[in-house]
Amino acid sequence: MTGAAQRSKDTLMMEAAALPENVPTVLVVDDSPSMRTMLREMLEQKGGARVLEASDGTVALKLVVSEQIDCVLCDVNMPTMDGYSFLRAVRSRHSRLELPVLLLTSQDAVSDRVQGFKLGASDFLSKPVALEELLARTETNISLARMYRQMQRMVMTDPLTGVANRRRFDEALQAELARARRTQQQLSLLLVDVDKFKSINDWYGHPKGDAVLVSLAQTLTSEMRSYDILARVGGEEFAVVLPGEPLAGAVAMAERIRAKVEANSLGGLPEANVTISVGVTSGPRGDDDDPQQLYARADARLYEAKRTGRNRVCVDEPPAGEAGGPR
Ligand code: GH3
Ligand code: MG
Ligand code: MG
Repeated sequence: MTGAAQRSKDTLMMEAAALPENVPTVLVVDDSPSMRTMLREMLEQKGGARVLEASDGTVALKLVVSEQIDCVLCDVNMPTMDGYSFLRAVRSRHSRLELPVLLLTSQDAVSDRVQGFKLGASDFLSKPVALEELLARTETNISLARMYRQMQRMVMTDPLTGVANRRRFDEALQAELARARRTQQQLSLLLVDVDKFKSINDWYGHPKGDAVLVSLAQTLTSEMRSYDILARVGGEEFAVVLPGEPLAGAVAMAERIRAKVEANSLGGLPEANVTISVGVTSGPRGDDDDPQQLYARADARLYEAKRTGRNRVCVDEPPAGEAGGPR
C-alpha cells in the first residue's frame, strides 16, 4: 500500500464501506470446513450477512487487514495460529468497540471464556451453535460496533460543514508531523479565515453566513488531494494540512483558493464579495518543531494578512538553509 493510500485509509471520511451499511460482513474462522459451511449458511440465509471464511488465524488476519469486516466468529482450537493468538493480534490494531470478535468455545469451557475476555473477546458462542443465539449475539455486537463508529464520526466532525473538527485536526496535525519527521518530508499548513465575516452575518443574517461557510468548505475540498485534511478550527476559520507538500506548492494552492473564493460568490451572495485571508507555513523546522509552533506560525501570517489589507496569502518563509528554505 502506498503512503498516500494508507493515509486516506486512516481518515474518518473514508469509513464508508463499498457495501451498503445494512449488509454486514462476517468473517468465520474455523479449521473445520463443515463448521464453516454450517455457520456460513446460517449467517447468509437467516442473518442476511455477507460471509468470508478463513481456515486459521493467519489467513483471518490478512482478511481483517484487507477487507471491511463488521464481526468475526472465531474458533479457539486451530492449527498454526489459534483463536487466542489471533485475538491478541487483532486487538493490537482494533479495539473491542471497533471490531467485535466472538469466540466459539465448547459448552463447559469456563476457563476458555475467562481467558478470552482477558484478551479482548467481545462475546462467546457455545458449540453446538444454536441458530437463534448465533444471530442474536452477532447482530447485537454488529449494531454496537456501528453505533460506536457513528459516535466516533460525530465526535470528530463539524456538524455544519461535515468536515473534520478541531479535535480531529489536532490529532491529524500531530500524527502527520510525526510521519513527516519519520519520512523526512515536509508538510504544510494553511489557516484560512473569512474576511469581515461579522458584517456578512449582520447584513444577510446568520443562515446566509452559515451557507458561506458550507460553500467555503466545498471550495477548499475541491482544491485538495484525497489525503489532505480539512478541518473547521474556529467559527469562520479553517485549516488544511498538506502531508508531503513543501511550502512552494502550499503557497500556490493557497493562492488558487483565494482567487477562486474571490471569483465565485460563496453561499450564493454575489453582492457580498466574500474574500478570505490565508496564513501558510511548513514544517518540521528543526528537531523540536511541534504542532503548536506550526499553528502559531500560520496564525501569525494570517494575522499579517488581515493587518495588511485582507484577501491575501501571507507566507512564513523558513530561514535560509533550512528545509524548504532558500539555499
Ligand atoms: P476579520 O476579517 O478580521 O476576520 O473579521 P471578522 O468579522 O471575520 O472576524 P470576527 O472574529 O470579528 O467575527 C467572526 C464572526 O464569525 C463572529 C461570529 O458571529 C461569526 N460566526 C462564528 N461562528 C459562526 C457560525 O457557525 N455561523 C455563522 N453564521 N457565523 C459564525
Ligand atoms: Mg474573519
Ligand atoms: Mg476569525
